[in-house]
Amino acid sequence: MLGNMEAVQFHPTAIVPAGILVTEGCRGDGGLLRDVDGYRFMPDYEPDKKELASRDVVSRRMAEHMRKGKGVKSAYGEHLWLDITVLGAAHIDKNLREVKDICHYFLGIDPAKEFIPVRPTQHYSMGGVRTDHTGQSPTLAGLFACGEAACWDMHGFNRLGGNSVAETVVAGMLVGEYVADFCESECGDLTVSTALARQFVDREQAYLDSLLAGRGGENAVVIRQRMEQIMTDKVGLFRNGTDLESAVAELTGLLQRSRQLALHYRRADANPELVLAYRLPRMLKVALSVALGALNRTESRGAHFREDFTARDDQAWLKRTLATWPDSADLPSLSYEPLDVNAMELPPGFRGYGVKNIVEHPASAPRQAEVDAVRQAEVDRHVRQARLMPFDHLLPAKYRGRNERLEC
Ligand SMILES: Cc1cc2nc3c(=O)[nH]c(=O)nc-3n(C[C@H](O)[C@H](O)[C@H](O)COP(=O)(O)OP(=O)(O)OC[C@H]3O[C@@H](n4cnc5c(N)ncnc54)[C@H](O)[C@@H]3O)c2cc1C
Repeated sequence: MLGNMEAVQFHPTAIVPAGILVTEGCRGDGGLLRDVDGYRFMPDYEPDKKELASRDVVSRRMAEHMRKGKGVKSAYGEHLWLDITVLGAAHIDKNLREVKDICHYFLGIDPAKEFIPVRPTQHYSMGGVRTDHTGQSPTLAGLFACGEAACWDMHGFNRLGGNSVAETVVAGMLVGEYVADFCESECGDLTVSTALARQFVDREQAYLDSLLAGRGGENAVVIRQRMEQIMTDKVGLFRNGTDLESAVAELTGLLQRSRQLALHYRRADANPELVLAYRLPRMLKVALSVALGALNRTESRGAHFREDFTARDDQAWLKRTLATWPDSADLPSLSYEPLDVNAMELPPGFRGYGVKNIVEHPASAPRQAEVDAVRQAEVDRHVRQARLMPFDHLLPAKYRGRNERLEC
């Protein structure tokens, strides 16, 4: 079962055409975004935060500006400019050395002297294998996931820069413990029969053989390229019902066609075409989970932006999308898991990025009042923390101690 697959984050500054990211530190240090005329456009859209607005907001503003015809045309599609010449060579050498190297090796330019061609690119998936707090799938015992592959709920619909470090360190530590516990428990005993394992291997081998033997069928490279185009054009930074419907319909057609693949190069050795053909139906299922989830979610939330439903609708949509695939179906089954505002230490509110456009959840304000009352209570900080976040019992026993640093 997958969770929140429609939550896909874009990064504003991938270099064109290589697609390698240059760090947001460029803008953090004072780098500017400029258009085809050399004009610095971000203050027009985001007067307060300018280039320092959150990455999804900056990405959308860049796309919006390019839509107005202000992009720079190139053989590799339109882009904008990232200007770090303003920081000076000494600063770049000292603090942005990696950016200097990327520009040198992949663009052949010196960013202290020339603008860097950039445009937003797909970056991070907030969705993934739905897990409980231990990292285990609630629907498939023994399947654990953590990090970017998981929907462990650390990021909601919009990961903030740097939070993958927290996720990989914290989830890696906790989930690792739970995996070890699982292996030592009775549930962790290996009960899969060798006959079942053989059946699986035989089935996959038969599939590989059919790909290698197939003639006159569908071309995996063509289908993959079309999938990429659909996802970029219709399920990307800006989404709307009409485009999403057409994306779902066309991706479903591609999934059906991907069941009739035939290879041009038919050897079972190091063969990228075979690898692609083997993975393609699953890639399409992921794409369909993203597209259908985005179509159904008639609101805008974090990285998911609907032009036809611009408000974040906490009243109707404060819930997690769950996607499962019934055997041989052409579409995922979607269901929804509501979130409990009354259990939140930080109830939903306006966090100050982008424009405030929210349909409030009725429980948000009362819960915020409760949280404020707990915060103001004259009690030990650990008692206060326990009242706001009563989750100690969910941690492995050895991590339940008090955080020493908090006591300083
Ligand atoms: C350019 C870039 C810059 C970033 N900068 C930051 C940053 O500054 N701060 C931050 O917090 N986050 C940053 N991120 C995000 C962060 O790096 C990732 O979210 C994080 O590394 C994910 O870690 P992970 O261990 O979950 O997954 P991964 O690092 O993707 O590891 C998954 C591993 O699984 C392996 N694997 C895949 N399939 C299989 C298979 N079938 N069998 C066996 N192994 C397999 C892969 O080879 C890989 O080694 C950045 C991401 C990018 C792309």
